[in-house]
Amino acid sequence: MEFEKVRLLMVEKQLMGRDITDPRVLEAMRNVPRHLFVPPAHRDMAYDDMAMGIGEGQTISQPYMVARMTEMLELTGSEKVLEIGTGSGYQSAVLAALAREVYTVERIEELSLRAQRAIESSGIKDVNFLVGDGTGGWPEEAPFDSILVTAATPEIPPPLLEQLTEGGILVAPVGPQSTQQLVKVTRLEDGFRREFGIFCVFVPLIGAHGFDE
Ligand code: SAM
Repeated sequence: MEFEKVRLLMVEKQLMGRDITDPRVLEAMRNVPRHLFVPPAHRDMAYDDMAMGIGEGQTISQPYMVARMTEMLELTGSEKVLEIGTGSGYQSAVLAALAREVYTVERIEELSLRAQRAIESSGIKDVNFLVGDGTGGWPEEAPFDSILVTAATPEIPPPLLEQLTEGGILVAPVGPQSTQQLVKVTRLEDGFRREFGIFCVFVPLIGAHGFDE
């Protein structure tokens, strides 16, 4: 009950108080129990306006960043979504609340297993997990209507563009490890349209089409 109150306040102040307006995204952020996705010792900080450590040198993104990137995907409920960088599983849970099904890839097995447990204990369905290098996408399950990369990438991995449906949207933080900019790519009949969003700082996407280890 206490967590719910703080969560509603988080949506009001950090999301609506900035520029998040999609009512479906706001509703998902009101409903998904973020405190179940952070380390138990730090649950009291789960709704603070910041990213947090989740172990293995990785992070759960700031609530605003999760909402911002999710809004850019323009989900309507019918999409098959690919997420690269499962991390805590929180973003996967938000996507699952807004799309038909979610496929999420994480390179660190321990994080993927923890995320699976958190998703299960939240009663969220339709999330499929894979451990491996997500810079190659998930070819066996392609194509995807929406793709979200939740780690910094020097450029958008070509396999992800190939696995996007026509009319589909991909969102990724693109740039050097010091700072990135959110990029939204829409697949058109004859190519790709790129639009640029806010600047941000993410942990690196490490893999064949990302940064070196
Ligand atoms: N979406 C996550 C959440 O809601 O907690 C936050 C993800 S965290 C900012 C980025 C994640 O990407 C880390 O867990 C990291 O291990 C993972 N990652 C980095 N390179 C990857 C790769 N090539 N394939 C899959 N996951 C990768």
